[in-house]
Amino acid sequence: MTQTLPPTLIDELRHVLGPEAVLVGDDISPRYRQDYFSPLPQASLGLVVVRPRDTGQLAAIMRLCHAHRQPVVTQGGMTGLSGGALPGDGELILSLERLRGIEEIDEAAGTMTVLAGTPLQQAQEAAAARGFLLAIDLGARGSCQVGGNVATNAGGNRVIRYGMTRGQVLGLEVVLADGTVLSSLNKMLKDNAGYDLKQLFIGSEGTLGVVTRVVLRLEPLPEAVQTALCAVDSYQQVVALLHHAQRRLSGRLSAFEVMWSDFYDAVTSRIPGQRPSLPPGSPFYVLLDLQGADAQTDAPLFERLLEQALADGLISDAVVARSVREAQSFWELRDSPGRFSMIWPQLASFDISLPIGAIGEFVERLRRRLTQALPGCEAVHFGHIGDSNLHVCVAVPGTSAETFPEHEIKDLVYDLLRDYRGSISAEHGVGRHKKDYLGHSRSPEEIAVMRSVKAALDPLGILNPGRVFD
Ligand code: ZN
Repeated sequence: MTQTLPPTLIDELRHVLGPEAVLVGDDISPRYRQDYFSPLPQASLGLVVVRPRDTGQLAAIMRLCHAHRQPVVTQGGMTGLSGGALPGDGELILSLERLRGIEEIDEAAGTMTVLAGTPLQQAQEAAAARGFLLAIDLGARGSCQVGGNVATNAGGNRVIRYGMTRGQVLGLEVVLADGTVLSSLNKMLKDNAGYDLKQLFIGSEGTLGVVTRVVLRLEPLPEAVQTALCAVDSYQQVVALLHHAQRRLSGRLSAFEVMWSDFYDAVTSRIPGQRPSLPPGSPFYVLLDLQGADAQTDAPLFERLLEQALADGLISDAVVARSVREAQSFWELRDSPGRFSMIWPQLASFDISLPIGAIGEFVERLRRRLTQALPGCEAVHFGHIGDSNLHVCVAVPGTSAETFPEHEIKDLVYDLLRDYRGSISAEHGVGRHKKDYLGHSRSPEEIAVMRSVKAALDPLGILNPGRVFD
């Protein structure tokens, strides 16, 4: 049965926030009820959405919810891939969409302070206009929000050079479950004054507090980018190419994205508008790029790196982007999983990590297990292999939403992953979709400490309940 919120709480929320900040019934758009993996709007009966304008309003909401023991789900851009932001029965939806904007760019410190509901791309563009790079970058940049990036410790395409979102966050403002505002808006690179509390909230998927403001570290904006797509014959050579590129580019390798032939063939032959820049048929394709300061010196260095790789037999073919447009077309190929629903309406999608040297063997063993258990299934493999992060997507043609064997596929992938002591979530988080498998990657002792932290910060369990663990 659908639970509804207490009417007295709704009245109090309206009183504190103003009627326009509280949505009920038909005023609630389907976008608050769906995410990438749930394209059909979930039931809306009894839902209430609140949209605070500032930290003070958000703190007032949490004080009320704490007093009423009201569960809350926090929403950003709804681009998460673990189901964490989908509203559950009886949960109040806390949307950060009106808490947006760039508050400050401090050029001397090399930082920007943004409100949590700011779309990532807006923050990137504001930094670029002042000559800085905001190094967090992922395919959903146009829709995802900085607060969501922080809450999930988002990874993405530039981790090999700049680290995860955690590496870009210097300060945070967070509202706790009881409405306490914890303001740690530090701008300094070094700060060892006691516990680094912001790290608790980064990657905790909104279960410990609601992020409202973020101080982000900025990098110099690269003046020149070199991008290439290479064909590689074996996984061993993929790893050798990674080390060759890291040595030759001395820290400036900015992406090392690997696509197995199953991915490359499916994308180039089945997604309209994707033309192969290299002919199909190679076992692996690698997208490499270098972000540097000087095209005059970077371009010849990049060419020599590829010539040497060809001479040493690490690659069998390569094409270097001659224009920004051409580089974008390589990236569109890599970012095409955002359009996988055009090929496969039902898909089990994984963001796992395991030691780089083991990934090739893992993929071969997984392929054998999948084919044996689910004849006719289609699996594609790709990922940020320089970050030890593999993505796998599995479809079973002929199945429907009701008959798709999602649990069987998850068991196959995560059971094999456990043999390698890998992680069930490299970058998307656990949310609802992976919580049953948390024990594959974390020990009982680790999970017990996680529960203690949750109980200390959210004793009533009202923040994103049922996400990460029950
Ligand atoms: Zn990814």
